[in-house]
Amino acid sequence: MPGDPEVGLLRETGLFPACKSRPAAKEFLPKELVSSGVVRRLGGFFLFNPFTLLRELFGFPELSVSLVMKPSLFDSHMHTPLCGHAQGELSDYADEACRKGLDGIIFTCHTPLPDGMSAEVRMKAEELPEYVDRVAQCRAEFKGRCDVRLGLEVDFVPGYESALEKIIESQPFDYIIGSVHPHLPEIRDAFWKEDPIAYGKTYFDLQARAAETGLFDTIAHPDVLKIVRWADYDKALMKEEFARFLDRVAETGVCLECNTSGLIRKVQEIHPAPDLLPMIAERGIPVVIGSDAHDPLRVGDGFREGVEALAEAGFKELLVFTERQSQSVPLDSWKALVADWSYCLQNEAPASLHGG
Ligand SMILES: [Zn+2]
Ligand SMILES: [Zn+2]
Repeated sequence: MPGDPEVGLLRETGLFPACKSRPAAKEFLPKELVSSGVVRRLGGFFLFNPFTLLRELFGFPELSVSLVMKPSLFDSHMHTPLCGHAQGELSDYADEACRKGLDGIIFTCHTPLPDGMSAEVRMKAEELPEYVDRVAQCRAEFKGRCDVRLGLEVDFVPGYESALEKIIESQPFDYIIGSVHPHLPEIRDAFWKEDPIAYGKTYFDLQARAAETGLFDTIAHPDVLKIVRWADYDKALMKEEFARFLDRVAETGVCLECNTSGLIRKVQEIHPAPDLLPMIAERGIPVVIGSDAHDPLRVGDGFREGVEALAEAGFKELLVFTERQSQSVPLDSWKALVADWSYCLQNEAPASLHGG
């Protein structure tokens, strides 16, 4: 990645002369710095935590970012009509966020893909500037009421990495979600071998490979496979695959998503399933919450169930991304907001991309 400022900085120190790319740069970061928490790796970025640095250097007590910044309670995953299977205007999504008391929302509509792949469930390449404009207009309209941000849900397809990187770098995105949609006909055709177990292994491997590209901030709905072939879904075996996937994700510093859309599908549980959350917490992998709303009424939908499950699993914070930088939000702030929310079962998303 020529011209990458983080990589350039690392090279300029003279300590890491061979460092040419973000994934390579990760290998040069001293492990002690990472484990001390002074430096965090996030999607190939290095984030210095000034509070931890002060504590390490001078023995200052641990300070939380939340002491100096207002917590940002965002729904970080929702769509727009440009993908062809979501309804409502962008302002309807922002209105619903205001109504529920959220501080902000991130539109993360389905990215265009090369070669016309699954074109019927995503915006066209030439619509990307229109998408960016629509989000900017919504952001201006809701200024001071709801912090509207620009994101993208990007399908990870092996072989498309450089095309995806070009799309990601073409616009000033706040947040990039990487997804594997095992129900996409093209993914199914490429990897389905008439064996649900083998397909499950492939699915979790693809998700790990997505994290390892360094292109994404978060991997979406990391057990969405279960909504595609629920009847065949072997929870115990897939838990083992999930553990292997998590070990690889933990090495990358990429986040995982707590995606509440599973609650309105026949599985009726969040992604990942509540019993998988402690495995994520144990490995110190950060989590971002999103509704995956394709209907304005679903903004923030299921967040009470999601937050309760995360608390039960031992999480103390969630992350939110703006300008590709993460901010920690105490789970207690979320608990206070969502304590009396309920979710709306009647708004099942269309089956085209999402199974069910
Ligand atoms: Zn998705
Ligand atoms: Zn969708």
